[in-house]
Amino acid sequence: MIRDFSFFIPVKLVFGEGKLAAAGEEVRVLGKKALIVTTGDLFKKTGLVDRLVANLTASGVQSAYFSDLSPNPLHTEIDAAAAFGKKNGCDVMIGLGGGSAIDAAKGAAIAIGHDRPIWDFCMGPDQAAITAKTLPVVAITTTAGTGSEGTQWAVITNKATLEKPGIGSDYTFARVAIVDPELMASMPQKITASTGFDALAHSIEAYTSTLATPITDMYCEKAIRLIGKYLRRAVKDGNDKEARNGMALANTLGGFSIAVAIVTVCHGLAHSVGGVANTTHGESLAAMTPQTMRFSMRGNPDKFKNIGMFLRDEVVNVGQDRLEDSVREVERLIADVGLANGLAKQGVKVTDIERIAEGVIRYMGGSITIDPMNPGRDDLIGILKKSM
Ligand code: NAD
Repeated sequence: MIRDFSFFIPVKLVFGEGKLAAAGEEVRVLGKKALIVTTGDLFKKTGLVDRLVANLTASGVQSAYFSDLSPNPLHTEIDAAAAFGKKNGCDVMIGLGGGSAIDAAKGAAIAIGHDRPIWDFCMGPDQAAITAKTLPVVAITTTAGTGSEGTQWAVITNKATLEKPGIGSDYTFARVAIVDPELMASMPQKITASTGFDALAHSIEAYTSTLATPITDMYCEKAIRLIGKYLRRAVKDGNDKEARNGMALANTLGGFSIAVAIVTVCHGLAHSVGGVANTTHGESLAAMTPQTMRFSMRGNPDKFKNIGMFLRDEVVNVGQDRLEDSVREVERLIADVGLANGLAKQGVKVTDIERIAEGVIRYMGGSITIDPMNPGRDDLIGILKKSM
């Protein structure tokens, strides 16, 4: 019996090698002057920003450029980007980069559109609603992991409170997502591995979430199969075009899945870990995914037992102990792509554990209530200790 669900992903996906060239024509429909947002000046140095600017100009779109943003963008940096965009009369945002740049573009779109600091929309009893005033966003992704180009979410960090919530509404989807695998070829091995693991974690969590739908199940299965087939290859040889293509698609399919079925306990924990210890998102997920799978699989064994089969791109699921097989297959992938580092090696201290668990409950509560095992505080502490 298929239970009721709704499905809303209002993103125009432009996928394929060389599709950066479509940017001008796509942006032209949405605004007259674009604010191009990157985290740091890497893409200015490589000439990518200049290529984008030339492409926009050829389509009659003016632009301004802001790069003073960190990976895991801070709310204060997003406010600065918004002030810069407003001063320059920008009416459309372009996030050029990984999830951090795209999320910063979404954050600036919210802040400029409502003329309010972004943190007002993030936390607290007076949290402001995100409305249709949000400016349009075009996401040009250069990593294959967060799926931010396909989600309504923007993840924003507050260094003062050590919090890292994900915010979003129907108005914060990118209007256009340009997913050009050529832009991902320059990712170093470590970033390929950690972002690729993020895509896997999205797909596992959305597949096993209590909000999973028949459509997201198809996306997740396809994404997990692609990641099993291509992540090792993309890490080994960044110029393997077939592997980059496969990972680029897996990334966006994972994004579409978490737009609807959201994420579960591992992502809840990773946000709180990142707020406290400023870890690399995909690396902290790799440290915690095996333990969260072992914890949550009892709540949805029929789904969890398929993960190993999907990762090996098999169609028959036979043999003993399919649940543990799924966890072992994930652990094998983690080891093969060089991500087998516990949280302690990533800078998380034992004394941080309670604060991290409490952070999940305080501002990532949705991720635990839709987890098939709905973990409590002690469960979260147990998972964190085992993932150190
Ligand atoms: P990132 O955007 O933080 O980038 C990491 C580093 O990789 C940066 O230094 C960046 O300059 C570099 N980089 C990016 N593309 C490159 C390329 N092609 N070549 C060389 N270097 C490149 O990494 P990310 O993992 O894509 O994003 C992480 C952020 O996204 C976190 O804050 C995470 O919480 C958030 N996130 C958001 C969503 C969402 O739906 N909005 C989902 C998951 C995660």
